Amino acid sequence: MPELPEVETVRSDLEEEVLGDQILSSHLARSRVFRDLDETALQDRPLLGRYLLGIFRWGKFIFMALGPNLGILERDPHRRIFLEEGLLEERNLSVLVLHLGMSGQILLLREGDPVPPHSHMILGLASNLRLVYCDPRTFGRVFLASGIGTGPVRELQHLGADPLADFSELLFGYELMARSSAEVKAQMLDQRKVCGIGNIYADEILIRSGVHPRRRGSTLKEDEVLNLAQTTLETLLEAVELRGSSLKDLRYRDLFGEIGQFQNFHLAYQKDGQACKICGCEIAKEKFQGRHSHYCPTCQPLI
Ligand SMILES: [Zn+2]
Repeated sequence: MPELPEVETVRSDLEEEVLGDQILSSHLARSRVFRDLDETALQDRPLLGRYLLGIFRWGKFIFMALGPNLGILERDPHRRIFLEEGLLEERNLSVLVLHLGMSGQILLLREGDPVPPHSHMILGLASNLRLVYCDPRTFGRVFLASGIGTGPVRELQHLGADPLADFSELLFGYELMARSSAEVKAQMLDQRKVCGIGNIYADEILIRSGVHPRRRGSTLKEDEVLNLAQTTLETLLEAVELRGSSLKDLRYRDLFGEIGQFQNFHLAYQKDGQACKICGCEIAKEKFQGRHSHYCPTCQPLI
């Protein structure tokens, strides 16, 4: 499942390639990925002729600001544009929200490139590029945010700190986790305190922090909380630098269909049975919320 580093890779590539471009055609298939989209919005009107004025990210969500050609918005990738009602109205903006779910991909096709199967949205751009959202399992979502307190945007207001946006907010997210007796990994996957982390990066952050996935938040000491926040930032930045992780299924692809490289630096995720690169002990695997946790019993003692 694409997590923060994969989504950020797609976002920054989109910014590079299509910012300022204009949508000249749109094809939206009838699909479960549009389940949060108002039926009338399936018509072309909200998209056609609009310019891509900003491409932002919060957690695992990408926000595309669409509007009349009044200039590019400020390039702060983590701007919470979906909460800025005044801005949306003032600039006559609509915000297209994309979440990749389990298997979603956003691809940029050049002239002559074939449209891949399971493509639910195809936007034809003035530059002759086509922006395609495809998702075989359709757990992903595409919808239009329309302002504070309306429809699905309300749900986005509950998202916690984005780890790359502001370190003090990130640290505060972990301080909140340390006030709860719930297991640390479960809290990291819950997007309300810190968002953007899924199963892969939770395992990678926890082994690098020396924290067992089943440690209770309330057992974390102050220095461990700080270390978790710092390690989260470092791990995610390193993964962004390496353009994310593509697993054995090679499902995660960037905008150009290329795989990421951070999987070559995984210490725990799907490394069960192999020697820990830190201490040499065997990496363990445990069932966790229908999936698995991977950890080193020596580096990450359960206190
Ligand atoms: Zn170890």
